[in-house]
Amino acid sequence: MLNSDRNRMKLNSDKWFSEVYPDDGCALSLELSEKLYEEQTPWQKLEVYQTTKFGNLMLLDGCVMLTGRDNFIYHEMMTHPALCMHSAPKKVLIIGGGDCGCLREVLKHPIVKNVHQVDLDERVTWASEKYFPELCESNNDPRAILSFTDGVVFIEQAAGNSYDVIIVDSVDPVGQAARLYSEEFYRACYSSLSENGILVAQSESPLFHRDLIKSMQTRMADAGFNDVTTLFFPQCTYPSGWWSASMAFKGSKPLNYRTVDFNTEYYNNDIHLAAQAVPQFLR
Ligand code: SAM
Repeated sequence: MLNSDRNRMKLNSDKWFSEVYPDDGCALSLELSEKLYEEQTPWQKLEVYQTTKFGNLMLLDGCVMLTGRDNFIYHEMMTHPALCMHSAPKKVLIIGGGDCGCLREVLKHPIVKNVHQVDLDERVTWASEKYFPELCESNNDPRAILSFTDGVVFIEQAAGNSYDVIIVDSVDPVGQAARLYSEEFYRACYSSLSENGILVAQSESPLFHRDLIKSMQTRMADAGFNDVTTLFFPQCTYPSGWWSASMAFKGSKPLNYRTVDFNTEYYNNDIHLAAQAVPQFLR
């Protein structure tokens, strides 16, 4: 049904959540039906709401982390392109990702032998298990290890050749997460990756954060990675509705990729290629 009633409706703040992006004079609003949970964890403010049309909504420090309706795009694009481009992604590390959506997608790949998820805040995983159980259905997979500590410290202590793919599913580059976007962090990831290892990190909005994407690509290259590619995809409830993930290759960027033999909702062979097309203003 078309949104024929799109209009300048005045939003009742009791019934609507709005995330405002002041630097871009823009906001996103979601109609709420119920507040489900709120907690000030040792690291961040955690909130969960039920919405009228987007399922459950998780906020961290007032920012949308995921909704039940559209998280599949992000979690598939943060995992399948990199895993399919690596010839044998047996050892995977996820830094951040406490909602477990990326973990679920990684474990769909039979070739993966173990995946270690390291999130700063165990309360995020607790809340996801309670309010987004569909994302946590693989948490008890014997291949999965869930740890709760600072990912920056963890990777600095990781041995060389520990991982084939590292996925950095973190919040925006602020506070405890800022160091997850640094050259030093990328250098530590490079060291802990195997010979043809791949790093993939969420890299924000191409429209709102062009300079951040460029600087991440430069830092990854300066950290020693041989090639860097950014994936572009829609993400309705993130700033601008257009998102990205940047992949860095320790070896040569693979031209071939394995196809998935399990169900996905967004990712497929065509998307794998199309997502790597670089918009003109980002070249
Ligand atoms: N998809 C979301 C996005 O793009 O903003 C990210 C979701 S995920 C829930 C973000 C996670 O990053 C949070 O659970 C948070 O605890 C974690 N995080 C932030 N800083 C971290 C750090 N230094 N080490 C490990 N995890 C961190």
